[in-house]
Amino acid sequence: MTTRESSFGASRVPVAVLGATGAVGQAFVRLLASHPWFELVEVAASERSAGKPYAEAVTWIGDDPIPPAIAGLTVQLSSPAHIRSPVVFSALDAAAAGEAEPAFAKSDRIVLTNARNFRMEPDVPLVIAEVNPDHLDILATQRKQRGWPGAIVANGNCAVIVAAMALAPVQQRYGVRRVFISTMQAVSGAGYPGVASMDILGNVIPYIKDEEPKVEAELCKFLGLRESDHIQHAAMVVSAHTSRVPVQHGHTVVMSVEMTRRADAAEVEAHLGNWRGAPEACRLPSSPERPLAVFKEPDRPQPRRDVDLGKGMTVSVGRVRRDTLFDVRLVAMGHNIIRGAAGASVLNAELMASTGRIPKP
Ligand code: NAP
Repeated sequence: MTTRESSFGASRVPVAVLGATGAVGQAFVRLLASHPWFELVEVAASERSAGKPYAEAVTWIGDDPIPPAIAGLTVQLSSPAHIRSPVVFSALDAAAAGEAEPAFAKSDRIVLTNARNFRMEPDVPLVIAEVNPDHLDILATQRKQRGWPGAIVANGNCAVIVAAMALAPVQQRYGVRRVFISTMQAVSGAGYPGVASMDILGNVIPYIKDEEPKVEAELCKFLGLRESDHIQHAAMVVSAHTSRVPVQHGHTVVMSVEMTRRADAAEVEAHLGNWRGAPEACRLPSSPERPLAVFKEPDRPQPRRDVDLGKGMTVSVGRVRRDTLFDVRLVAMGHNIIRGAAGASVLNAELMASTGRIPKP
């Protein structure tokens, strides 16, 4: 794996973003434009965008300017023949990821993907750095079984990441037996241009295609245990309802939880407030000061007020209280594009670099 001298004076790992023109791809561009360990040197997308300068190919969402160092990069095709970087962040549409991502892994690249295609493959780690960093160990199985010199490491669905971060401390201390989940998901979760304004303004759409099975399956994988060569999924029953709401960024997830070991709501709330996540995920460049922020106010968290906490990497939790159906109920909310996608991938890459899985300069 190669590193090169960067304009920062220190040597950084060259990286590429696939799907760089989309909603998640643009978040990667922002996060990687001045990263201390990674240098964004290549952007790629579909044939529609390839060959154009990035600034021309992208419909830039946001008030900030396109980072000048990236604006002039020529967009490449999303294939290993056109990309040289050893580390590849993928924000590809699922229709393209299925073919492109294994091709990169086959040609010795580390792929950190946001697409759904490989998340539930038994030999693909589905990782939140603070929750289950040890799941990265199954990369040895992936390499053995697939013969790839590179690797695929997956991010979860954006609503699941928010739910998993709030439930991880509960699962670790008390065990979770059953959980009822209902989501209110932001429009940016559908990519750009996403849901038509005529459909979503002043409305709630109680259906997101294929979302509920993802929530139910991925949560059990995230909160599962690493065995020698596989992940033992958590034996919890999850029932999910998912809805799209007219919020720009920030997925809100309300949950009722039955625990294996009973505890009252005040104790669970205190435990959530003290939780800092896995020590190896602390103090990385993208680690928030606190992975969870617990609110005591009865009307928080709210996406408009709280979505940018910890630069979008903190999941906000509130309304931890006794449940009439199970044991406790609570609300969790997090930035779907930062914590639920690009930021989480960058943190996973930093974790891999700090644990020797990506050579750190
Ligand atoms: P998006 O805004 O629709 O962007 C899709 C990207 O994929 C664009 O850069 C597009 O390039 C590229 N693309 C589409 N078809 C392609 C093809 N055939 N070959 C190569 N590139 C192709 O979607 P998004 O919301 O950023 O989501 C990106 C991925 O992350 C998806 O898999 C999504 O499920 C996942 N995800 C999204 C979120 C979220 O909150 N939005 C959260 C978690 C995970 P062109 O511009 O050239 O068409």
